[in-house]
Amino acid sequence: MCTDCFENNMMGFPSQDNYNNFIRILDEKVKSQKMKINTSLENSNSILGINFRTYVTCCSCGENWALEIPDHSNRGYFLNQQGIEIYYAKKNRHNRNVKRNGLFILTLILILVFYKCT
Ligand SMILES: [Zn+2]
Repeated sequence: MCTDCFENNMMGFPSQDNYNNFIRILDEKVKSQKMKINTSLENSNSILGINFRTYVTCCSCGENWALEIPDHSNRGYFLNQQGIEIYYAKKNRHNRNVKRNGLFILTLILILVFYKCT
């Protein structure tokens, strides 16, 4: 991270205007050759030839950034490698909690049905 790229990760874009402003800044950095679109990372991370992220590399510090475009409830992100690891660790923890809560509720329903029938 340096002043030529971005000094902070963005864990999500709160609004479309926020995202549009960010894209304008990123576009200026790419046009002024401070940052470049990294197609080799895009190709290595594509699923069935489709990539849902854009990768950008800082020409000054070499930091790789991943941009995920906001889509409905997904607020997208712009993260470096460390940010990606934190983001997906949080997401996996959240998914585990949702599964655990779902299993607890299902167990509770089965117990209630069992006692109602006996
Ligand atoms: Zn940089």
